[in-house]
Amino acid sequence: MSKVIAQLIAGEWTESRSRELIEVTDPATQEVLVLAPKATHEEIEAAIASAKETFLSWREVPVSERARLMLRYQHLLKEHHDELAEILAKETGKTFADAKGDVWRGIEVVEQAANIASLMMGETGENVARGIDTASWIQPLGVCVGITPFNFPAMIPLWMFPLAIAAGNTFILKPSEQDPMTPNRLAELFIEAGAPKGVLQVLHGGREQVDALLTHPDIRAISFVGSVPVGQHIYRTGTAHLKRVQAFAGAKNHMVIMPDANKDQVLSNLVGASCGAAGQRCMAISVAVFVGEAKNWIPELAGQMAELRPGSWNDPHAAYGPLISQQAKQRVQRLIIEGKAEGAECLLDGSHCTVPGYPDGNWLGPSLFRGVTTKMGLYREEIFGPVLVCMEVESLADAIKLINDNPYGNGTSIFTSSGGAARHFQHDIEVGQVGINVPVPVPLPFFSFTGWKGSFYGDLHAYGKQGVRFYTETKTVTSRWFDESPVSGPNMTIHLK
Ligand code: NAD
Repeated sequence: MSKVIAQLIAGEWTESRSRELIEVTDPATQEVLVLAPKATHEEIEAAIASAKETFLSWREVPVSERARLMLRYQHLLKEHHDELAEILAKETGKTFADAKGDVWRGIEVVEQAANIASLMMGETGENVARGIDTASWIQPLGVCVGITPFNFPAMIPLWMFPLAIAAGNTFILKPSEQDPMTPNRLAELFIEAGAPKGVLQVLHGGREQVDALLTHPDIRAISFVGSVPVGQHIYRTGTAHLKRVQAFAGAKNHMVIMPDANKDQVLSNLVGASCGAAGQRCMAISVAVFVGEAKNWIPELAGQMAELRPGSWNDPHAAYGPLISQQAKQRVQRLIIEGKAEGAECLLDGSHCTVPGYPDGNWLGPSLFRGVTTKMGLYREEIFGPVLVCMEVESLADAIKLINDNPYGNGTSIFTSSGGAARHFQHDIEVGQVGINVPVPVPLPFFSFTGWKGSFYGDLHAYGKQGVRFYTETKTVTSRWFDESPVSGPNMTIHLK
């Protein structure tokens, strides 16, 4: 009988009373690792009540002490880096190196959260009217919620709760039901770092649990990362209940290859950016747009992609792991079949991949298509698998138009040796994160993660200064003091003509 994973409510790790349990499986073997409960109504209410009450005392803790908690947490995360990566690799199937990267990118956000004191400084203006000063104070909101996807079970929870809590909020995390072990371990280490009881709560479950949080009057803000339909649902429901919402959603990321680019760099970066993590990254490159004669490199690209092979998390030669679930694998297989039926030319078909010793894994080999049009499902849908689609255009202007007409706007990149082409691209492209000879331009946490268009619903982005603004409210204080002290200068009036 598999173990039921615990929830963190009011500072205690407790087993849910729920009878509804979700199997968390090893995607390389289908072995059930743990069972994730669907939190009951009472458990959700208890977590919210505890977070609401704890907020009253947590907001009074000086910002420098809150920052110090983040320093201790960062230290512990680094000490447990390998252990966390192993848990993460087992439940997601990611290779160990990739799993370490997932944890590391989260640690970097904790480092940013340790700078909270300077990030929460407001502005002041003296003598805005005669004898009157104005100051803006940055204050926390209250109870914030994070709903996270399966594909980065360390990084994405760490995008959220450290910054929100450092800013003086309390936080309820509802991680993906597909890989909840890593978020639980992150929370355990947060408690070990000294987080007071009730500051962070962890609830498990799916749609019903999320909906209970989205509509609850005591929740002030919702951070979501996941798919487009769910992101739209979260944004609509959360804002309809008058909450602040940031919802990061799906993507279709294009890389433009100019004929003057460095061919070797283009090919190796394309292979890694499309198939790394089995293509299950919101910033994965899924469309390669070849401009002019650059299309002559496609056969060589096919040769390099054909070399890649997936494998288990602890196989040091594996390029990437299995897909997260059998359903995810079947969905990608369906898109490959439909792509062929729609007339795309399939240069590599990874649908029937096997890995020795792992007959039941959700494996897919790399797939490559050319001759794809904007009407095909291969282009319109986010595939979220190791599938790269090649398109050919005549000019940079055509490439920019193609990308700007796409409903998504998470990331894009251009490979070129022309500063003029790169400048033109970065200025005109309607995508929030742009790489110039950088295939996956995820910003470090002192910037913000800035998806656009259908890849993001909301106003303020994740982490960096925008993340702090998302989790805080600005209070503007205008003050005048009546006292007997002499005024330092004659009372002068300026008459403007
Ligand atoms: P998902 O939308 O299925 O699930 C995300 C979260 O929402 C999970 O916690 C899940 O329990 C919850 N959820 C699922 N269905 C729900 C429903 N009907 N109502 C309320 N909550 C629900 O996403 P996923 O498959 O876990 O993650 C992959 C997706 O996430 C991809 O589309 C990927 O592009 C996207 N993603 C985006 C970013 C970004 O920054 N833009 C980053 C990572 C992943």
